[in-house]
Amino acid sequence: PNPAPEAPCLDPFALAKALSGVHFIGGRYTPARSGRTFAVVNPATGGTVAEAADGDAADVEAAVAEAARAQKEWAKVPARKRGALVHKAAQLIREHVEELSRLVALETGKALRTESRVEANNVADIFEFFGGLGGEIKGETVPFAPEVLNITVREPLGVVGAIIPWNIPMMLMALKAAPALVAGNSIVVKSAEEAPLAVLRIVELMNRVLPAGVFNILSGQGPECGAPLVEHKLVKKVTFTGSVETGKIIYRAAAEKLIPVTLELGGKSPMIVFADCDFEKTVQGALTSMRFTRQGQSCTAASRIFVERPIYEKFVAEMAKRVDAMVMGDPLDEKTDIGTIISPGQFEKVQGFIEEGKATAGAEGRACSAMPADPALKKGLFIQPHIFTGLDKESRLVREEIFGPVTVVFPFDDAEAVLEAANDTEFGLAASVWTNNLKIALGFAHRIEAGLVQVNQNLVVQPNLSYGGVKASGLGKEASLESMLEHFTHKKTIMVNMA
Ligand code: NAD
Repeated sequence: PNPAPEAPCLDPFALAKALSGVHFIGGRYTPARSGRTFAVVNPATGGTVAEAADGDAADVEAAVAEAARAQKEWAKVPARKRGALVHKAAQLIREHVEELSRLVALETGKALRTESRVEANNVADIFEFFGGLGGEIKGETVPFAPEVLNITVREPLGVVGAIIPWNIPMMLMALKAAPALVAGNSIVVKSAEEAPLAVLRIVELMNRVLPAGVFNILSGQGPECGAPLVEHKLVKKVTFTGSVETGKIIYRAAAEKLIPVTLELGGKSPMIVFADCDFEKTVQGALTSMRFTRQGQSCTAASRIFVERPIYEKFVAEMAKRVDAMVMGDPLDEKTDIGTIISPGQFEKVQGFIEEGKATAGAEGRACSAMPADPALKKGLFIQPHIFTGLDKESRLVREEIFGPVTVVFPFDDAEAVLEAANDTEFGLAASVWTNNLKIALGFAHRIEAGLVQVNQNLVVQPNLSYGGVKASGLGKEASLESMLEHFTHKKTIMVNMA
């Protein structure tokens, strides 16, 4: 039985209910073996919108068994045909973009207009892009001697286990599932506890086109459902996005089985602003880079901003003024710019950082944007964006990933010193440099320790461009043809002696 409607459903509350209590395994909605569920909460009101299946090792066993069976057949489908099927399934996502945007806005609190709709469109783009790459799964010939033919072929790895967080759940799932599937693997995804619904719907939609069992999804808690997936003997590759702490647990478990992992972890990304920048564009860039629209819950958020002294005061004042003008409110309302924090736990954590910053001698925290006035939202997890100045570089607000609407701004006088400060972090995910001086821009781009450096722009997602961190921000890359070949296939060498 298919509890969710066939056609796009624009009422996210009704759709959330319809998607309650199930995983999607082997081409079917399936309840948890234990019968247990957990609540999915609307962070804008505190109300429960659905119950998610609470997966455990028994569900993992069922999903991996289905995935392993299906993968054997899937690997025999010519790669271009696999890609064509993924591309065709992407059209169903396109047709459901509005539905998915509303559903993800409901479960994550991300504003529909500024965040959720953008994510849903990106998901369709990602599946379409990888769908076109089937023909690129090929090897090489390597000359050795006239009578020896050396060739390499790219083979799928088998069953892929994917574990995703809640901040951009659909997109982070797509970046894993699309290349894994086109390369001939099957996949079992473990969704984030806070956001299991939109990703579940995507898997169901794509299963209308893909063979049963190649694309499966479980909901559940990390240790009870994620860990057994990583540890399962038939899971041959793990791809994870989330915190550094969980990334280390997963890396250790994968090491026990000697399987490859991809890890996309946290960040504390610097934004460096020189006085010769285009002021207007750069202030706007700070707002978007900081992802205030998503309450700063972005791994690449510009959470440390360094501004050259001549424009420092003006920059901070203008930034605060513009954040003030942003509307915080009901994520499903088209007028809303800024939605909510994801969960009470994150809310407490972010508030803790803000309190600590405010209590720091010499520091100033500007609270921007008004709290929503609507009484229906009084239990909502809204936090006013904060811009802190005057903090010491050893402050926890400067060192740790807050994953909330909090940025710290410093003035600087010297280019070498600011480069050193930018690199003075355990993380290395993203960075941006804002200047009209090409020599400075390129010099910084080379010397900043980060997987992604942008000059005079903020994050633009491109499925054909590699993305991933260095240092504690992770291992391996996502997006691009190269990431599909490197991370979802292995290269087999075949030598034929024809003598
Ligand atoms: P998290 O590590 O707490 O959880 C992520 C996922 O891991 C969830 O699905 C969770 O259930 C699962 N998990 C938890 N414990 C597990 C275990 N022992 N075994 C297996 N799975 C387990 O992270 P979060 O708080 O949900 O997400 C926020 C983090 O994600 C931030 O640090 C952020 O920077 C990072 N992130 C990184 C990127 C990137 O591309 N680098 C993108 C988005 C988010």
